Amino acid sequence: MSKSDAQGIQTRAVRGGLSPDPVTGAILTPIYQSTTYVLDGIGRHKGYTYSRAANPTVDALERALGALEVAPPAVCFGTGMAAVVALFFSLLRTGDHAIVSDVVYGGVVRFARILLDGLGVACSFIDTSRAKDVEHALTRRTRLILVETPANPTLKLTDIEAVARVARAAHITFAVDNTFLTPVLQRPLDLGADVTLLSTTKYVEGHNATVGGSIASRDAALLERLRLVRKTLGSIQSPQEAWLTLRGLKTLPLRMQQHSASALAIAAWLERHPAVERVAFPGLASFPQRDLGARQQAAPGGMISFELRGGARAGTALMNSVKLCALAESLGAAETLITHPATMTHPDVPQHERQAVGISDGLIRLSVGLEDPDDIIADLAQALERSVLCPA
Ligand code: PLP
Repeated sequence: MSKSDAQGIQTRAVRGGLSPDPVTGAILTPIYQSTTYVLDGIGRHKGYTYSRAANPTVDALERALGALEVAPPAVCFGTGMAAVVALFFSLLRTGDHAIVSDVVYGGVVRFARILLDGLGVACSFIDTSRAKDVEHALTRRTRLILVETPANPTLKLTDIEAVARVARAAHITFAVDNTFLTPVLQRPLDLGADVTLLSTTKYVEGHNATVGGSIASRDAALLERLRLVRKTLGSIQSPQEAWLTLRGLKTLPLRMQQHSASALAIAAWLERHPAVERVAFPGLASFPQRDLGARQQAAPGGMISFELRGGARAGTALMNSVKLCALAESLGAAETLITHPATMTHPDVPQHERQAVGISDGLIRLSVGLEDPDDIIADLAQALERSVLCPA
């Protein structure tokens, strides 16, 4: 067992994989803002040659994220979508097939439609909450199962252990997009997944300051392949963004606890409000997959989705009336963000497909931030009042 195995998640988030700068003793890894590295001689270097292949600050982030997952150093990308693209390009060729959760971030659907289709790579969007459906969707050419749990934006959960059993029996790589919970609240690698993917843009960096992505795995050959694909695509994280992400990582466990506690209070309040039709939040007793959430998540997380009795009209009025919550894309930061998935994060998913998986035009997604929950509730209360008054 390595040292970091024995340490708690908070210690790993602050210290994991990191050591003071060997030259100056600086406690934080410096930002190595350099394109190229001078060789000691032909074929002799200090581990770095060109920053599209590797960079010392990015390496530090990769070691830290690896330590958090109790895995080798992760592979970091310029965005979460760059990580998704590299995963597909690492594993699939023309004629191959992937199974993807039917509720996923809209950018993944767009990637499948506008790029993978044209390259002859097929994707089946399946209800991965039913492991049997995943098994039935397997073909001779299936190479990847990509699951998002909780799913963006409906929060539907997939049983990671159940899908891992299906994937293992068929010798297929199983990846979990863990962006909504991070390794602090959910550990897909320990539940049998081969790969975890994060948009570090969200909770990991946590301050709405960067975009980034990462992939962790305990499969050394896959990690090597991902680095090669990343070098080829030119999609490595930048040193500045890596440094900011490293800083955010140190407070990730504390923030995840607070996001979860605040979201529970807000979800419970929303559920009691007469203008609210339905609230989806894994911490509520009414959440249909509450037991699964309790089994595979350390806490419910900070994301809520809900619909109003007044449907899309009332939802639009609410989102136009908030003052403290910010009407914006993205999630997982200090500021509470309110998002309309149908027009903001999932517009490239055709309306009938959105409806079929529960992304109605009235669905509202709330990323609960770190403000006082009472202030968020007060803001939602005044916006709900306006939404009720809004003429049909
Ligand atoms: N995965 C999930 C669950 C997301 O919500 C997003 C973006 O919203 C992504 C991946 C893509 O990440 P990025 O925006 O960093 O490219």
